[in-house]
Amino acid sequence: MAVAGKPNVGKSTLINRFVGQSIAAVSARPQTTQRNQLGIVTRPLAQAIFVDTPGLHRPHHKLGHRMNTAAEHAIRDADLVLVVLDASHPADEEDRRVAEGVSAGARAHPVVVALNKADAASTETSTACRRALFEWLPASEVWPVSALQGEGVAELLDRLLLLLPQGPIYFPEDQVTDAYERDLAAELIRAACLHYLRQEVPYSIAVYVEEFRERATGGAYLAATLYVERESQKAIVVGTRGQMMKQIGTRARLEIEALTGRRVYLDLRVKVQPGWRDDEGALERFGYAPQNRDRRPGA
Ligand code: GDP
Ligand code: MG
Repeated sequence: MAVAGKPNVGKSTLINRFVGQSIAAVSARPQTTQRNQLGIVTRPLAQAIFVDTPGLHRPHHKLGHRMNTAAEHAIRDADLVLVVLDASHPADEEDRRVAEGVSAGARAHPVVVALNKADAASTETSTACRRALFEWLPASEVWPVSALQGEGVAELLDRLLLLLPQGPIYFPEDQVTDAYERDLAAELIRAACLHYLRQEVPYSIAVYVEEFRERATGGAYLAATLYVERESQKAIVVGTRGQMMKQIGTRARLEIEALTGRRVYLDLRVKVQPGWRDDEGALERFGYAPQNRDRRPGA
């Protein structure tokens, strides 16, 4: 099941709710999720595999292109597509592009819409969204939910499980994500950068986990490099007397400790790699696969 929607509508928050824990980095800034990531919900008779797609958006870099391709593949391969809209704002051009992408790629599959942020929506904005959906996706069901507060989420999940075709269980019952701990750690470090850094800088950062191992003295040791494109960006990321780096590191460490349930010694450094966002080799190394990862049927 692919989860599609423009950045910031609450896809990651909703998947975390479905799954019951934090597997996808949630951020007030768009584009935190740069790769497709699975969320898995297992019930006695069904297993739903959610693919959290990075936002479909107009690409400015090869990285942007890869993110779009990954999202398109996920939508094409899905048995069911869940489109997420932010009901606290009227639907706009970006939502329309998502709706078009979904109806073009998923003609054979049902499309369900989650009208998210019901807690923050007014009658006017919800109505505007519904009117737009009636035009763009006339055949799809619309479910108002609040991923943040949980309202409507259980009902929507039940409905989605019913709509999924029957199939074998692909993952062990207690598994909630396919992302490796290192990927999750990299994502949490990126989210911490997004939290503290302004404007263009965060999108020029690639996080590469060099080492993640248990320490003999207890806890884990995690070394990661933040690659930026310019010296000026490095200066911003490091900050005056390393203050920014320290803030980012502390926030990321606390999140990673919460996720992994153990103490983490986090060693962050910053390096300049000019133009990495347009460099195929660098994109490969930083884990932006040229193609969507191998998907099992039923996803
Ligand atoms: P994504 O880019 O679509 O994955 O969006 P995120 O899940 O990262 O959420 C973006 C922002 O919207 C975060 O600040 C969330 O806390 C917020 N958000 C998500 N769901 C809701 C909701 O139901 N209500 C409100 N008020 N905010 C929400
Ligand atoms: Mg997200």
